[in-house]
Amino acid sequence: MYLVAVNADVCTGCEECVNNCPVTVFDMVDGKASPTRAGDCEGCETCTSVCPSGAVTLTEM
Ligand code: SF4
Ligand code: SF4
Repeated sequence: MYLVAVNADVCTGCEECVNNCPVTVFDMVDGKASPTRAGDCEGCETCTSVCPSGAVTLTEM
């Protein structure tokens, strides 16, 4: 499984990860992306690729 996390101190709220994750892991919470459905992550790395600020980290468990 994969552990996906967002550094809220770095996230600009651009919503790229929200709009591009194929399994809709992310929601916007108080202007920041939050991996609300992290358990659905398939490890495709799209979020880490599209995030312009490097706020998303993905770790294979
Ligand atoms: S790695 Fe892929 S499936 Fe997992 S949160 Fe990122 S975009 Fe979604
Ligand atoms: S793509 Fe990056 S900066 Fe944009 S909302 Fe997602 S985590 Fe935040």
